[in-house]
Amino acid sequence: MISDKDADLLLLGGTVVTQDSERRVVADGGIAVRDGAIVAIGTAEAIAGAWTGERLDTSGCVVIPGLINAHQHFTADPIVRCLIPDGIPSQEAIFDWAGPLHAAVRPEDDELSALLTAVECLRYGTTTVIEAGTVAHPERVAAGMARAGLRGGVGCWGWDQPGLPYAAPADEVLACQRAVLDAFPAGGLVEGWVTLVGHALASDVLLAGAADLARSHGRRLTFHMSPTEADVVAYQARSGLRPIQHLDRLGVLGAHLLLAHAVWMDAAEAELLLETRTAVAYCPWAYLRLGTGVTRAGRHAALIARGGRVALGCDSVNAGDLPDIHRAASLAVGLARDMTMDHATITAATGLDLMTIRGAEAIGMAERIGSIELGKRADLVVHDARGPSGRPMGRHDLTLVWGTDGRSVRDVLVDGRLVVRGGRSTLVDEAALASEAAEAQHRLLRDAGLPRV
Ligand SMILES: [Zn+2]
Repeated sequence: MISDKDADLLLLGGTVVTQDSERRVVADGGIAVRDGAIVAIGTAEAIAGAWTGERLDTSGCVVIPGLINAHQHFTADPIVRCLIPDGIPSQEAIFDWAGPLHAAVRPEDDELSALLTAVECLRYGTTTVIEAGTVAHPERVAAGMARAGLRGGVGCWGWDQPGLPYAAPADEVLACQRAVLDAFPAGGLVEGWVTLVGHALASDVLLAGAADLARSHGRRLTFHMSPTEADVVAYQARSGLRPIQHLDRLGVLGAHLLLAHAVWMDAAEAELLLETRTAVAYCPWAYLRLGTGVTRAGRHAALIARGGRVALGCDSVNAGDLPDIHRAASLAVGLARDMTMDHATITAATGLDLMTIRGAEAIGMAERIGSIELGKRADLVVHDARGPSGRPMGRHDLTLVWGTDGRSVRDVLVDGRLVVRGGRSTLVDEAALASEAAEAQHRLLRDAGLPRV
């Protein structure tokens, strides 16, 4: 017979950073996990005294909620990571590299590249990722995520601008989107999202239809907008309006929408995002890597300071490269502080919020994840504070944002399952994965007719 105090796993010892509404921190803390949920939080002594279950010693560690990555490309790029040169214009990178790569990708490549990225994200403490753009095989991407034990959202890219590869009429694109929502129901470990490529590649009919689809199904919509000034120019030519104003006129903005980037905005556009509670996935390393002008045009600091719905992302492994949300947080906070020279409003604590509860709120999952609270899913990250960055240990918020990165992640739980232990995946043979990736890289470059420079 199971008593009320039987748990599946007890985490005992160390500092528990809950990120709950009071931002409670429990010194020498403990957490009980049962059926994938957090069922008790307290001191290690109290939890150990009241609960039975397998024990995970977390003394000398900092336990935090699983981190949120709101924009990460899982397909094609991971197999050719750090190979697209950074000395060429973005149009050349898209047409000479990304285009041929996506044309040569096979279904098994999509699963492999999703698995590679999922394992890497988990090892750096990210437990939830919103996939940013699968061209053809969302079911294989979802399979790769599930094999690694990662939570997240998948979609199937669609666009209806004629003359482009994979373009289809708006009703066909929307039918594909609906199929993804049906295949990956809300509440599952991997959920379906309505996912357009965005930019200027969707007609008004497709944009409005995608927003209606998300709203009517209680689901989320994501697409790219204004990482560079090109989208601003395109929308002004199209309607005389700036992109966010155009989306507002179509009725596309709202809490169901997560815009990737939103770098080139004017003040009125930023106001519209705040008023409509539209969320933004902010990927600062990608902007620096690609030289998009974020330090000139970005308004993310104001969105963050004014309570806007902002999550962090790492974009792609050829645009920002390392999918480590700790690095994104330190850069996001650092840029905001430098651009505003306001040292009081945006601090390391803000960065920790963006990585956890604010990130979860921006992707619409804060009822389930983003903080360590009773009843929430047990997505937990154990940072080993006995390594170099913890000698001696400082304040947890300063350490987690400024003083360490994913290197100090020791163990990771997703939905109560230990998916990383001792810094290695428990579900995936990482040596076999590495050799499979090397073979796939060789084959993909050859089939795409690209050099390994
Ligand atoms: Zn992207």
